[in-house]
Amino acid sequence: LLGADGRLAPTIFAEMTALASKTGALNLGQGFPDEDGPRAVLDAAKHAIDHGRNQYGPGRGSQELIDAVVEHQRRFYGIGLGRGDVLVTAGATEALAATMLAYLSPGDEVIVFEPYYDAYAAVAALAGAVLVPVPLAAPDFQPDPDRLQRAATPRTRMIIVNSPHNPTGTVFDEASMRHIVRVAERRDAIIVTDEVYEHLVYDERHVPIATIDAARDRLVSISSAGKTFSVTGWKVGWVMSTPERIAQISAVKQYLTFVNGAPFQPAVAVGLRLADEHFDTIQQTFARKRDILARGLRKAGFTVHDAMAGYFLLADAAPLGIDDATALARRMPELVGVVGVPLLALARPSRRDLRSTMRFAFCKSDDTLHEAASRLAGLK
Ligand code: PMP
Ligand code: GLN
Repeated sequence: LLGADGRLAPTIFAEMTALASKTGALNLGQGFPDEDGPRAVLDAAKHAIDHGRNQYGPGRGSQELIDAVVEHQRRFYGIGLGRGDVLVTAGATEALAATMLAYLSPGDEVIVFEPYYDAYAAVAALAGAVLVPVPLAAPDFQPDPDRLQRAATPRTRMIIVNSPHNPTGTVFDEASMRHIVRVAERRDAIIVTDEVYEHLVYDERHVPIATIDAARDRLVSISSAGKTFSVTGWKVGWVMSTPERIAQISAVKQYLTFVNGAPFQPAVAVGLRLADEHFDTIQQTFARKRDILARGLRKAGFTVHDAMAGYFLLADAAPLGIDDATALARRMPELVGVVGVPLLALARPSRRDLRSTMRFAFCKSDDTLHEAASRLAGLK
């Protein structure tokens, strides 16, 4: 996280995308699609811009988006929310930041499952909180109940759950979710759940932790539009919790961005109300992309972990005789013209078991994936 000067450094995603631009390499580093999402959603944003939705909107978000989030939760998960249970944010990133800053005081402990999305560690640091990583390990990357139990202390203030999980593509099973809820209850900790990949679960259906009744008393749920509608640059997300917690989190959001994305909010509302066909298509499309890249990486000699969800595949370069994926990531553009992210960028250096593994994004055109796989075969 920190550069040589002790300050926050550019993220690994920014670094790897800059490297891809500089070298012209194929960018399987940062997770953003290179194909557009549904036409109706894109057109709705243009319509909103042409029809005066260009100034500050309501602090909690536009009414149509709040209503669409409520409807979406009922339609897909049978969860009943009220309008006061939702806050619209500048992506899941701001939702996480506002939630963490609202609840964490210096010295509080935050449990995360490692490897973890970098923002959790960065915002914990900004809040002066202490990150307590619980390792997830191959082959299944499910949380180990004993390790979680041991990680929790009287100072545990928050447990951050990210299922479907970036970067492993794991979906936490129900037993793990229930265990997390029990540990949180015992320590009276808040559970923050980051479900931005909710519609990219390939072989089953996403089950939000909010469907576990006992979780609700202590739960803040977060999602966003970027992945579901292939609009990662729009930065529209939302927080779902009780009206009391939403009020506390909005109080922080006011001073981060105040409001955001005026014309994109009604467009995302259109997206959340799309017919089932969109949600089925996006799942099938990305499952196919996952399979193309997994086959290619295996042929190129990597050991590939099966991803059940999300945008990413983990590929271990050890069978190629490569034991340091961080060094490999820096040289790969010149060696074979492909960019990926070393997994250790999302974990502590002490995780030696992750040292030779790369994360590759498969949210790219089929042609790019085929081409990347054939270039990677050049590492052999
Ligand atoms: N959480 C996870 C797990 C992610 O992978 C990402 C990356 N896009 C985010 C949050 C951030 O989402 P957003 O772009 O909506 O801020
Ligand atoms: N979530 C994306 C990823 O994991 C990147 C988001 C970002 O660049 N911060 O690649």
